[in-house]
Amino acid sequence: MTFDIDPAQARRRVAELAGRVTGNFVDGSWISAGGERRAVHDPSTGEAIGYTSDSTAQDVAVAVEAANRAKKAWAAKTPSERSAALLGLAAAVEEQAEAFAVIESVDAGKPITAVVEEEVPGLIDAIRYFAGAARNLPAPSGGDYLAGYSSTMRREPVGVVAAITPWNYPLLQVVAKVVPAIATGNTVVVKPAEATPYSTARFAELAAQYLPTGVLNVVYGSGAVAGAALSEHPDVDLVSFTGSIETGRKVGIAAADGVKKAVMELGGNSPVLIFADAALEHALDAISAAALYNGGQECMSASRVIAHADVYERVVAGLTSRLEQVAVGDVLDPKTVLGPLITAEQRERVAAKVKNASDGTRITTGGDSLPGGGYFFAPTLVAGARQDEHLVQEEIFGPVITVQSFETESEALAMANGTRYGLASSVFTSDVATAARVQAELGYGTVWVNTHLVFGPDLPVSGFNASGVGTENSQDGLLEFTRLKHVMVDLA
Ligand code: NAD
Repeated sequence: MTFDIDPAQARRRVAELAGRVTGNFVDGSWISAGGERRAVHDPSTGEAIGYTSDSTAQDVAVAVEAANRAKKAWAAKTPSERSAALLGLAAAVEEQAEAFAVIESVDAGKPITAVVEEEVPGLIDAIRYFAGAARNLPAPSGGDYLAGYSSTMRREPVGVVAAITPWNYPLLQVVAKVVPAIATGNTVVVKPAEATPYSTARFAELAAQYLPTGVLNVVYGSGAVAGAALSEHPDVDLVSFTGSIETGRKVGIAAADGVKKAVMELGGNSPVLIFADAALEHALDAISAAALYNGGQECMSASRVIAHADVYERVVAGLTSRLEQVAVGDVLDPKTVLGPLITAEQRERVAAKVKNASDGTRITTGGDSLPGGGYFFAPTLVAGARQDEHLVQEEIFGPVITVQSFETESEALAMANGTRYGLASSVFTSDVATAARVQAELGYGTVWVNTHLVFGPDLPVSGFNASGVGTENSQDGLLEFTRLKHVMVDLA
């Protein structure tokens, strides 16, 4: 997908869409909701681009009722019928790929080239994958397990799914939750993150042309009110949540209180192990790209480099020069690689983390916000970080790489495994035995060898440790949205 983009016209198109999003999307149309309006800002300029509703618990209940009304008929459709509807939606998204790319780029401050070349094609592929894979779920066994009885196992939809999404991948996350839920016969209420409402709005409008009324509903509002009301609602059967560990804990408590399932993809702080025998130029290219992707606002970002002492100085120098060369600028300029952070608060958080680096560290490049109206932060490298400092222990969620040094493999593994996270990791080495040994010891749901940040809908994302509960993507991710029923017949 290639296209020329006129930034002024693109922003006008997003403003037009923003004008339509006046309430919540329930039963296939926009309905009024919420008392106060919430302003939505363009992270590239800091200017308001529109408003959304600020739903109350009552507004959320209206959307859950719609999903609840629709669930029986949608569950009764055959997998083939559901798949056909979703394949129709995939084709429609593909037809409007440019519009989706522009909305996502402006609303979430993402460089347009990455959105056009990776995110939008990736999410279209994901819709097609889930549409097909849900027709071909691993068949539960059946048979005569007890003498005189015949057993059948049936996989059923869970019912109404609440999907609560973060701002770093608004559209990809909607697809990763909504589409597998719908493909397996559930109905959904989505609550997008406050900062990034618009791609979800367009997706829901389009989906309404392919799905029966009430199958997909969207509510806007704060996490504390609308998000909490959704996870607590008694008619919600499963909460699929992506966001921070702290919020995940609250969602998990609400789900446990209502005795419902919660699938949670939470924060990450990926270790990147570079052994002395790694193909260094390749490794540094892959790591710098994966650290800067989406401004480092990526739960699997290559942010925490742990390099063997023999190559440590070359790693620091090589990454520093790559960070210094990165194109920072307007997200609608196709040459831009690094855009702004999502909000002023997020930028302040990143700046404070870097400023609080311990005395022994060396900032080889960047270290501060960039001037201008948007929320830009300079690509930054912090060399010599200590294992126990905040910058290493907690995810940074900005264009910042820390580099630590190790002497032995066990020391490297202790550093890699020495945080509360367990989402993704990578190992760079030319020795297959090292890769095999190290992957077995890494307590992470994803381990990449000689690459970082490569994924697809067929492949599972599982957060180990505090990084999550359950799996997203892949057949295992689809199964999360089903429940298993045992039907036993007395043969006498
Ligand atoms: P967040 O936890 O602040 O918010 C996520 C969503 O939860 C938002 O829609 C928010 O409104 C809602 N929310 C807030 N409080 C709530 C409550 N009490 N009850 C219910 N919902 C509530 O996270 P964020 O800042 O939007 O996103 C960044 C975080 O997401 C990072 O920690 C990142 O690592 C994580 N993330 C993880 C993955 C993954 O796959 N593991 C992917 C993307 C992002």
